[in-house]
Amino acid sequence: MRILVTGAAGFIGTNFVHYWVQEHPDDAVVALDALTYAGSRENLADIDVPFVHADIGDTEAVGAALREYDIDTVVNFAAESHNSLAVLDPGRFLQTNVLGTQRLLDACRSAGVARFHHISTCEVYGDLALDSGSDAAFTEQSPYRPRTPYNASKAGSDHVVRAYHETFDVPVTITNCANNYGPYQFPEKVLPLFITYALRDRPLPIYTSADHRREWLHVRDHCTAIDAVLHRGRIGATYNVGSGLERTVTQLADDVLALLGKPQDLRVTVPDRPGHDRRYLLDSSVLRTELGWRPEVDFAAGLADTVRWYAEHRAWWSRLQERSLVTESSW
Ligand code: NAD
Repeated sequence: MRILVTGAAGFIGTNFVHYWVQEHPDDAVVALDALTYAGSRENLADIDVPFVHADIGDTEAVGAALREYDIDTVVNFAAESHNSLAVLDPGRFLQTNVLGTQRLLDACRSAGVARFHHISTCEVYGDLALDSGSDAAFTEQSPYRPRTPYNASKAGSDHVVRAYHETFDVPVTITNCANNYGPYQFPEKVLPLFITYALRDRPLPIYTSADHRREWLHVRDHCTAIDAVLHRGRIGATYNVGSGLERTVTQLADDVLALLGKPQDLRVTVPDRPGHDRRYLLDSSVLRTELGWRPEVDFAAGLADTVRWYAEHRAWWSRLQERSLVTESSW
């Protein structure tokens, strides 16, 4: 394959580029990123892949990259991804996630790429009641009921991707994934925020809805899922990617504090973010039965590795923390 990875300087894109270069050394990988506050060129410094500094909404620049590197596969991670920032500035989410994706699709359509794979989220389906059982999980047929500007922008991007497949025959696949954790995640997101605050002995801000829970998947398992879909997925199909492992916000904070040997009274309660979803859980049985995918990273081991990675990369996250655009009490 000759793959263009958009959003390659962000959390999952960085992990994906590292993963692909290691697992598929005969493939060509090209990284593309607009380097917003969330992207870091240095994430890819140890890897020898071409880097294109461009916006996915710049059809001309993307088209030039597709031609220059003779790309056959595009994996689109590029997005505004922080729910809290979307509360303060929804327009930038619609701009990048919906219109940016549409312009990227135009470039791919003109270039005739063999595959456009779009990275999406469990959050497009809305939320589940806290007391619903595990059989309440979202399937690929669940209706889209986004409740926040970020989720609405991701839902919009999924619709545009499907529309380009149905209307223009662009060969697309989509994955909707649960919450990821692992190295290189920007320290504005809940898990690295807790880890980096605990490392600095700063209070961990916990929303009043501390019993809200998320399904957690190690970023490497997300990469293996995309690998399976790129190699064996059905054109036009959507696959949910989840682990089934749920943690409440309080449990997550306590996990981090225990791993770092910090006291529980480092937790402080802050007001909820407006529209904060209660619970997401995905049914990923299609991906498991059809493509034989399984998550392999044990949560306790993966979390311990992640905490260790942040403890060892203080300079990396300290720099990024200064670029954060939101504090968790801005509303
Ligand atoms: P991130 O914010 O860490 O990275 C996003 C990257 O996209 C950044 O490097 C940024 O510079 C780049 N970018 C933003 N706007 C761009 C534009 N207009 N053109 C080119 N590049 C642009 O996000 P992430 O957590 O790595 O998420 C990647 C994708 O995965 C997103 O689409 C997100 O919705 C999706 N996703 C994330 C999670 C999660 O838990 N992090 C879960 C499911 C799905």
